[in-house]
Amino acid sequence: MAPFNCNHNGACDEVRLCCIDTEMTLTREDAERIDTLGHSRKDYLIRAPDGFCQLRNVEGHCYFYDPQSKTCAIYESRPEGCRFYPIIYHAGKRKCVVDKDCPSGETLTRQEIRKVCHRVRALVEKLRMEALQGESPC
Ligand code: SF4
Ligand code: SF4
Repeated sequence: MAPFNCNHNGACDEVRLCCIDTEMTLTREDAERIDTLGHSRKDYLIRAPDGFCQLRNVEGHCYFYDPQSKTCAIYESRPEGCRFYPIIYHAGKRKCVVDKDCPSGETLTRQEIRKVCHRVRALVEKLRMEALQGESPC
């Protein structure tokens, strides 16, 4: 379940910014969940130079994003990172921060960030381990 309710109802008024030029990284579990919907990894994943697997962009937006309806085709099964966004883990600062690109980010309280930070950190660690061990999903 998403810990953050987007105050723009996922729309950012004009466009769903977090689904534009996405760099969202997927775990093996994310990909397995999306595969069960009938999608092929070669269509929706790309391998980044650092070994991580990211959502593919098509015409400047996530493969699963529909710019007409501003909806996500796999919303209930979307990657874990999409559920936490705009809370992200800043490796340099070693703490959770709110992505400044999200116009709803400033509505998040410290308490809300603290509440999910351990899960965001665990997700980042899992992604890192999968990439290191050659177990990323693409
Ligand atoms: S960028 Fe932020 S405000 Fe916009 S749709 Fe995503 S979560 Fe909502
Ligand atoms: S999977 Fe869905 S929520 Fe995540 S970036 Fe793509 S369209 Fe947006």
